[in-house]
Amino acid sequence: MSNAKNSRYRVISNANDFMSQVYKSEKELRAINGQKYTLNDFCEEVAEYCGISPSTVSQIRIRNLQPSFIVSIKLAEFLEVDVSELFEIVEVDGYKNNREKCIIDGCERIATTKGYCMKHLHKGYAE
Ligand SMILES: [Zn+2]
Repeated sequence: MSNAKNSRYRVISNANDFMSQVYKSEKELRAINGQKYTLNDFCEEVAEYCGISPSTVSQIRIRNLQPSFIVSIKLAEFLEVDVSELFEIVEVDGYKNNREKCIIDGCERIATTKGYCMKHLHKGYAE
């Protein structure tokens, strides 16, 4: 799932930062006990907890892949953060200004794919 082109919103993922933090502290913790803990180990643990494959975890980690809603919830649980902290949804700059206006003279509303705004579309102008 990538961001759709011309989408009004863009998703910024913080999952990578949280994963790095948790991996680092876990690695340090285990080093105290003389245990080795690799990034692979971490990805496997995340994968098992979230019910996805380790390679999917890697894809999420490098921001190549947007996790599904359910996976996001599991991931937040695993990382012990709020799911709302994992992703930021921002409105694309100038989105409204770049949209086509309704083709009815003097109407300033944003047009649907049919060229009319929702109001004029529902009034039957497109028929
Ligand atoms: Zn209109």
